[in-house]
Amino acid sequence: MDEGKLRRLRERYGERGVFDSDDPVLAAAARQVQSPDGQRVAPYAGVPTFLDLPYRTDTSGLDVAAIGVPMDLGVSNRPGARFGPRAVRTIERIGPYHPTFRAVPRAAVRVADVGDVPFRSRYSLEQSLQDIENYYDALHALRVRPLSVGGDHSITYPILKALGRKAPVGLVHIDAHCDTMGAFDGSKFHHGGPFRLAVLDGVLDPERTIQIGIRGASNMYWEFSHASGMTVVYMEQFMRLGVEAVIEQARSVVGDGPVYISVDVDGFDPAFAPGTGTPEAGGLTAREGLALLRGLRGLDIVGADVVEVAPEYDPSTNTSLLAAQLLFEELALMALPH
Ligand code: MN
Ligand code: MN
Repeated sequence: MDEGKLRRLRERYGERGVFDSDDPVLAAAARQVQSPDGQRVAPYAGVPTFLDLPYRTDTSGLDVAAIGVPMDLGVSNRPGARFGPRAVRTIERIGPYHPTFRAVPRAAVRVADVGDVPFRSRYSLEQSLQDIENYYDALHALRVRPLSVGGDHSITYPILKALGRKAPVGLVHIDAHCDTMGAFDGSKFHHGGPFRLAVLDGVLDPERTIQIGIRGASNMYWEFSHASGMTVVYMEQFMRLGVEAVIEQARSVVGDGPVYISVDVDGFDPAFAPGTGTPEAGGLTAREGLALLRGLRGLDIVGADVVEVAPEYDPSTNTSLLAAQLLFEELALMALPH
């Protein structure tokens, strides 16, 4: 390096602080990230909330509400997703700046962690689903878009009922399983069937639904997905097509109408997300999943969730780390449509 260049670098950066940047986008983002007194808040300090968002129980006036849904009475196998919201809240250092979209999502909308859905009883699945529906109905009436952390996947059915009551929504669904199974063991309510119930209730449009990452032991149960006209991208097809082609397919399936995004962490390979109740080998990588979500920018997203984080099966906490990143990507899509 010539001495002139070194001298210029010393003049420019010798005393410069972390929030100073010549790039106007980065400088603006830095101003949005620092605290009012010009400090960087320590990521491990304070009471944990989703994505370090402010905690607020009054939902009126919000554009987006991050909600915990700690309920796993619908699991068919290993329980534990009731601990998902707490585990995802403890993850630090996700955002607030989005490096791909070059913006701070939480600065573009009014968003807060509004706590957990209140449940009347920890013992009744059907009553819990009704509690969720009531809570999301009230939120929807206030035009607050929900960003939820489960809980098992049965929670998405009452959420879709609240969001799709006036007109059915479209769906981008990442999962190892289609979750369009029928009743068994005397119950049609379980985490293997929310999207079948939502279609039959007229709140989810199967022809504007795409399911991505499907594989594994339950593949014999997905007749309803095909019969109703959903687009199912099995893992083998995903590998053949690649991420970019699947993004194009997803965008063309859901079109311009309102769309919900539902991400079951078991859509990812257990190498990335072992902390879940029904893991299936051979799934998406974290890189593929993040690229997929980023490719959905510009859609009319009315709500999103990340479900099936059962942290006790993952002492590494990487499942929660991935879930928090997925939640951040969903917030970015909702907050930064352009
Ligand atoms: Mn699922
Ligand atoms: Mn699943």
